[in-house]
Amino acid sequence: MIHVIPSGHNEGVSKTNILRIAERIPDEAAAYEYLEQLRWNGSPVCPHCGNEDRCYFLTPANGKSRATRTGKPTQRRLWKCAACRRQFSVLTDTVMHGTKIPVRTWVFVLFEMCASKNGVSAREIERKYGLCPRSAWFLTQRIREAMKDDGLGMFVGKIVADETWIGGQPRYRHGHKAGTGGQGVTDKTPVLSLVNTTTGQVRSKVVPDVTGATLRKAIAERVNMAASVLYTDSGNQYRQIGQEFAAHESVDHHVGEYVRGDVTTNHAEGYFSQLKRSLDGTHHRISVEHLPRYLAEFDYRYSTREATDKERMGDLLHRVGGRRLAYRPLTRAASGA
Ligand SMILES: [Zn+2]
Repeated sequence: MIHVIPSGHNEGVSKTNILRIAERIPDEAAAYEYLEQLRWNGSPVCPHCGNEDRCYFLTPANGKSRATRTGKPTQRRLWKCAACRRQFSVLTDTVMHGTKIPVRTWVFVLFEMCASKNGVSAREIERKYGLCPRSAWFLTQRIREAMKDDGLGMFVGKIVADETWIGGQPRYRHGHKAGTGGQGVTDKTPVLSLVNTTTGQVRSKVVPDVTGATLRKAIAERVNMAASVLYTDSGNQYRQIGQEFAAHESVDHHVGEYVRGDVTTNHAEGYFSQLKRSLDGTHHRISVEHLPRYLAEFDYRYSTREATDKERMGDLLHRVGGRRLAYRPLTRAASGA
């Protein structure tokens, strides 16, 4: 499921915290080395051609820094591939590619976003690390992008499906297509979450409405239905979908039934309450447009909740490859986050 880097997790000897990281990376070169350790585990892999063999470090003349094209010194650590002869750094082809934000700052923010239950707001990052609002926002969104599910496999197992309503921003009141959930017209955004209680993973998705057809489509994208068991509340929409599963069990919330044997939707309810607490408390206003990235962040932390913060950070670096995110598409509605 996740790449776990050895860290003595069970012995509790290597509890990482932000102070230890600060000691470990006193400067930019050390921050690069720290990321190299997490991403490559000591043996660099060329991001251009995938070669793992005999990539060598281009030691700067003074041992620590080199001059950039403009003559400014940089501590950026460069490697050269023995196969394709091209240069690379640990940032090449990751969401950090071409960043102007110090790599030390990236490491701190990566860690905070991996470690904090409720997430970290761009505002907080801006204040703490002295970044401009745009940089802080961009940095947190890029890390969320790396947390996005990378499409590995379909869910198979015991699947709890449940939907919730997030939101409501005045400026979206007119433009946003309102969904109806039996509660009349609303400007809130429906979100479907699928919790695989067999593997402990969750995937959430913004859906246009909560009709049976829409939910079926979203579930079919994520779940091998014929090989799984579906757990839901007694919502009518799930009746027909349930027939495509190996079995379908439901609890009837209307008559106060929440758990019957191992039939329950409590996993999803727990997930939703954490999500909403955080969206209200930490982020305040999130536009519908950016909601999928926040969902990805929460899904990611939930799905890796058994890992230590450092393991989660290592895993995140394994999946950042090839996920550059251009500045432009992200900033169209930057003010909303
Ligand atoms: Zn190469």
